Amino acid sequence: MQLNEIIELDKKYYMNTFNRAPVCFERGEGMYLWDINGKKYTDLLAGIAVSSLGHSHPALVQAITEQASKLIHCSNLYYIEYQAKLAQLIVENSCADKVFFANSGAEANEGAIKLARLYFKKKGFPEKIEIITLEKSFHGRTLATIAATGQEKYQKKYSPLTPKFLSVPINDLEALEKAITQYTCAVMLEPIQGEGGVNPTTVEYIRGVRELCNRKGILLIFDEVQCGLGRTGKLFGYQHYGVEPDIFTLAKGLAGGFPIGALCAKDFVASAFEPGDHGSTFGGNPLACRAGYAVLSTILNEKLCENSERMGQYLTDQLNRVKEETGMIVEVRGKGLMIGIQLARPVAKAVNAKCLEQGFLVGNLGDSIIRLLPPLIIQKQDVDAFIPVLRNILMSDGLDA
Ligand code: PMP
Repeated sequence: MQLNEIIELDKKYYMNTFNRAPVCFERGEGMYLWDINGKKYTDLLAGIAVSSLGHSHPALVQAITEQASKLIHCSNLYYIEYQAKLAQLIVENSCADKVFFANSGAEANEGAIKLARLYFKKKGFPEKIEIITLEKSFHGRTLATIAATGQEKYQKKYSPLTPKFLSVPINDLEALEKAITQYTCAVMLEPIQGEGGVNPTTVEYIRGVRELCNRKGILLIFDEVQCGLGRTGKLFGYQHYGVEPDIFTLAKGLAGGFPIGALCAKDFVASAFEPGDHGSTFGGNPLACRAGYAVLSTILNEKLCENSERMGQYLTDQLNRVKEETGMIVEVRGKGLMIGIQLARPVAKAVNAKCLEQGFLVGNLGDSIIRLLPPLIIQKQDVDAFIPVLRNILMSDGLDA
């Protein structure tokens, strides 16, 4: 089909929930995508879901193909080899003792919220149900996770919100301590906020939060859906802070673009779940878990966290040069390959559109932030190709038009 025919079909039959650019991709390989007209793009936004390995990594394609030809789905009432193997791989490389698989980030977070409440109910504290999150956080679009999300724009159209969620400012330990009551069961946060503008928490803050949770006897939940799995230069975001959460969640790149979410927890809290307490039809299916196993093994074997750290530093250094040269950037922030570029003027949408025109996929968060989440396989040559393009766009006329 031609692009205009696809757009027409979409407009007629698909619910209008996304602001879409007029492009339809047909094929991907590594860092690159090709649209239906054969135009090539460099994907600097793959971290939204495909993440680490880039597009169609041979290890992932082989794992999915092999598994699909054997068994795609079966009931969770029976044992599933790669479900157990992927859980083991996550546990052996993290602070978690047990894992549960869902189908998305929001669903993994819903599981985390349920587990935290159930933990206190089973301990004899049924009143402990409140969850404190951070302003500008993003935890998903289901009803409980929009209540957890500290951004009004995701909430206001859907009131009444699920009760017992409350947000406090990021990196403010005093505000957090004041908000904790005898009804609080957990603090839930992204170590590095993604959708809220790529906002890292500080080391003192996260260490203080851990200490505070210990002192108050409440759980600490990290949402690592966006910052986990090598994105920030370490396998997990929490490793930057020298503290361990009691529960953390993963999704996005875990199965290289195939839907999966993971709820990971220490034994003392995971053991609150007993048969019948939680479940999912598709969560943990053989195909998703086999894909996840291939992706996580490849991240570890190909030392992609190290590449994320190295290339993240290189990309940040180059962006800081563009900042000096153009005066159009206020700040380059983030960690590893999770990068936010705060622009001096509200022209992020125009910059994004011009990057796309010139064959580079980037993201914009609101009007003033450009976000980069390239695959962890990115090489110096890809950065070197992008930087002059961005510099020219930032210095071009007509961005404010
Ligand atoms: N948590 C965070 C930190 C996210 O960035 C996202 C997705 N942007 C989610 C949760 C929700 O994930 P999903 O879209 O898979 O439900």
